[in-house]
Amino acid sequence: MSDGSGGAPRSLFFEHCLLADGWARNVRVRLENGLIAAVEPGAEPLAGEERHACALPGMPNLHSHAFQRGMAGLAERRGPSNDSFWTWREIMYRFVDRMSPDDVRAIAAMAYVEMLEGGFTRVGEFHYLHHDLGGRPFADPAEMSGAVLGAAAEAGIGMTLLPVLYTYAGFGAQPPQPGQARFINDIDGYARLLEGAEAHARGLPDAVVGVAPHSLRAVSPEQLRALAPLAKGRPVHIHIAEQVKEVEDCLTWSGQRPVEWLLDNAEVDGRWCLVHATHMTDAETLGMARSGAIAGLCPITEANLGDGLFPVEAFLQAGGRYGVGSDSNVLIDASEELRLLEYGQRLTRRARNVMARGSGRSTGADLYAEALEGGAAALGVEGGIRVGLPADIVSLGLDHPALVHREGDAITDSFVFAAGRSAIDCVWRHGDKLVSGGRHRSRDRAVRDYTRVLERLIA
Ligand code: ZN
Repeated sequence: MSDGSGGAPRSLFFEHCLLADGWARNVRVRLENGLIAAVEPGAEPLAGEERHACALPGMPNLHSHAFQRGMAGLAERRGPSNDSFWTWREIMYRFVDRMSPDDVRAIAAMAYVEMLEGGFTRVGEFHYLHHDLGGRPFADPAEMSGAVLGAAAEAGIGMTLLPVLYTYAGFGAQPPQPGQARFINDIDGYARLLEGAEAHARGLPDAVVGVAPHSLRAVSPEQLRALAPLAKGRPVHIHIAEQVKEVEDCLTWSGQRPVEWLLDNAEVDGRWCLVHATHMTDAETLGMARSGAIAGLCPITEANLGDGLFPVEAFLQAGGRYGVGSDSNVLIDASEELRLLEYGQRLTRRARNVMARGSGRSTGADLYAEALEGGAAALGVEGGIRVGLPADIVSLGLDHPALVHREGDAITDSFVFAAGRSAIDCVWRHGDKLVSGGRHRSRDRAVRDYTRVLERLIA
C-alpha cells in the first residue's frame, strides 16, 4: 500500500467521480507516489479494492491567515461605536502580540486539520507575522514561515506560502504602528525572508512559494516595482479594495481607486490574485477581468467583517476568474464559501442561480468547477482529478440525507446547498488518506496542542 511518501501503486474505486468534463460513473483512480497515475471511467471494481460512493477534487483555499483561527468568535461583541473591520483588526493585533513560533504552529496545524475536514486540500497562506515579540528579528528571518510550513507538514495539507511584504501603516509610506512591529520588512529584509521560506519549503512534497505585497496601504509604489524581479514566475497576491475607507484613502493619496491604480501601475496578469476587490467601479471590474488576475473571494470572512459584496455578475460576464478563501478562518468550510458567494447575490438581486453559466446549468457545479480552476491557478498549481496531478480527493457519503438518490450535477448542487461539510467522508491529499469518517487522523493531537496554546493566549 502506498501513501504520499511512495511505495507500490494502488487504486481507489468511486461509483461517482467528478472529472474535468463532468460526473462519470464507476471510476478507478490509480495512485502512484501521491500522484494520479490513471483515471479509468466505466471500470469494474476489483476484489479487495478500496471503494467509495462519490469523489470530488479537493478545493483550493486561496487565502488564509491561519493564526486568526485562534480568535474566531472573539470579536462578535458590540463595542461602544459602530463596529467595523478596523475594530476587529485591533483585537487581532492584541492576539498577535503574544504568539511564539510554537503557538503559530499549533494554531495553524489546527486550522489546517479543519480545512482538510472541510474539503480544502491546499492552502494559500498569506503570512505576515514574521518577527519575534516587539518586532525583534529572529536569527532565521523565516522562522515563522518555517512554523507555518511545519504545521502544513503536520496536517498534510498542500501549501502555497505567500510571505507578506508589509512596510507601512497607510498610503503615502506612513510609519508603522506599534501593533504592526512583528510584520515589518524592507525590501532587502523581504528578499532574505523569501530565500529562507524557500529553504523551509523544500521539505514539503509540492509546496509553492509566492510573493504578497500586503496591500497598497502597506507597500509603496517603489517597493512594488522592486518586488517585480523577486515575483518572476511566482503567484502574486495582494489585499485590495476590501474596505470603503481604503478606497477613500487611496483616492486622497493618488486620485485613483485601488484597483484602478494597481492596473495602471503594475504588470497585473494571470499570476496575480486580487484578494477581495470588493469595491470596484464597472471600469475597474472590466479591467481586472481582462488582466486575467484571479479574484480571491472570501465570502464568510467578508460577511463577518461587513466588507460588502464583490461585483460578481459583471466580472463573470467579462470573463473573470475567481477562487475562494477562508481568510480569517472564523469558520472553515469549502462548501459554505461557495454557498454564501451565491446567496449574497441572491439576497441583493432578488434572483436565483445567479452564478450558473447559462440556462439549464447547475449552479453548484459551475461554482465548484470555477473555484477549483481559479483557486488552483492562484496557488500556482492545477486542480482536478487528472493524470499527473496530486491525488487531492474528497469523498462524500451518498447516504447523507441530502444526497440520497442524487446523480451527476445534482450531487454537487446538493453538497453545496443542502449538505455541506457534514457530507464529507474521506479526504486524500497527495495520495495520503488523512480524513476518514469526516475526521482527520491527527485531530486529537492537534486539538490537544491547540488547547494548550489557547489557554495561555486567551488568559
Ligand atoms: Zn486577508
